[in-house]
Amino acid sequence: MDHFVYRGGTLHAEDVPVADIAATVGTPFYLYSRATLERHYGLFEEALAGTDHLICYAVKANSNLAVLKVLGDLGAGMDVVSAGEYLRAKAAGVPGERIVFSGVGKTREEMRIALSGGVRQFNVESEPELLALSEVAAGLGRTAQIAIRVNPDVDAKTHEKIATGKKENKFGIPIDRARAIYAEAAALPAIEVVGIDVHIGSQLTELEPFRQAYLKVRDLTWALRQDGHRIGRLDLGGGLGIPYTRANEAPPLPLDYGAMVKQVLGDLGCEIEIEPGRLIAGNAGLLVSGVIYVKSGEGRDFLILDAAMNDLIRPAMYGAHHDIVPVTEPEPGAPQHVYDIVGPVCETGDTFARGRPMPPVAAGDLVAFRSAGAYGAVMASEYNTRPLVPEVLVSGDHFAVIRPRPTFDDILARDTIPPWL
Ligand SMILES: *Cc1c(COP(=O)(O)O)cnc(C)c1O
Repeated sequence: MDHFVYRGGTLHAEDVPVADIAATVGTPFYLYSRATLERHYGLFEEALAGTDHLICYAVKANSNLAVLKVLGDLGAGMDVVSAGEYLRAKAAGVPGERIVFSGVGKTREEMRIALSGGVRQFNVESEPELLALSEVAAGLGRTAQIAIRVNPDVDAKTHEKIATGKKENKFGIPIDRARAIYAEAAALPAIEVVGIDVHIGSQLTELEPFRQAYLKVRDLTWALRQDGHRIGRLDLGGGLGIPYTRANEAPPLPLDYGAMVKQVLGDLGCEIEIEPGRLIAGNAGLLVSGVIYVKSGEGRDFLILDAAMNDLIRPAMYGAHHDIVPVTEPEPGAPQHVYDIVGPVCETGDTFARGRPMPPVAAGDLVAFRSAGAYGAVMASEYNTRPLVPEVLVSGDHFAVIRPRPTFDDILARDTIPPWL
């Protein structure tokens, strides 16, 4: 459930008409609902109630400082994958002891920044990273708390580009080698083993792959404890999928996920960490766009929008589906027209949907892409020198621009022509 609904014939974000925001901000723009972010975070709190836990929001899904502050103020931890994300979490007021540092290629400089600023744990993904972290931490006179990301070799049954838990993926260390690497970690200076980490992929629509991975983590917990390690935390990653279409799509609910986690791991006496991103931010955001032209083509009509693949790349990159709805509520039973919905960028890949039935719209109308709050703005670029798409946050009956659209002068000023040209 989200807080984007038609009221009085027009789409609202909480209590604000989307068209009012469009009139102020111009299109395209991302629009987030604070109440929806809070609701989704609350679903995970509810799901893990009764177990010692920390919900570490995966910052990469939507890293706007205002979004991080909404979640951080509720007590969320953060899962970051770069120094930039780490600094965003800190800037949003999240203390280091609630920040987990993940990622397959952390540099020494990134380790230094996180260790100096304070960090809860590093999720280490390889032996060379472990050695580097030990050196960096020792050099700073600090101890790095670590979990090792194990690769459980399970099929997440999701899109190949976002499956991370098969042995051929670049992530983590093979679970069969975990005992040897934990032994190595325990012997290193400035390293303290605190737990185990696993993350098998994104947009999972079944619980079974999670369960298989967590059963392996369970066995490993016992084995590592036998080896003398203190395994007090289990970081179970993120990845719970969301419905991208209103029709017949029902990924597992956080409550069912939580029940499964408690069933599989509840008796181990571990603090549970989870790293949801998409489920918290995805359906808390729209991409609002204007129709520039309706163009009749050979046997098809093109809806040419002012949003493009540089603003929302998921359809081009993953073949992803987004529901696209008119901002003005269609009459009940209005006839459907079939469109190819495209952006203005000079690539055929700049196509949001082919043969999509929707109520007829005209040039100048507004449309909204649903489920665009995660992996939307964060993946945007200025390809075709299209200004980086702005972001807006609604809370109740008010809204604020939380990242303004750059001007063309801003954009041009970022380049420099060397004096010798
Ligand atoms: C991407 C990622 C997440 C978040 O995944 P979602 O599908 O957005 O929940 C969590 N942890 C790690 C390590 C990730 O790479």
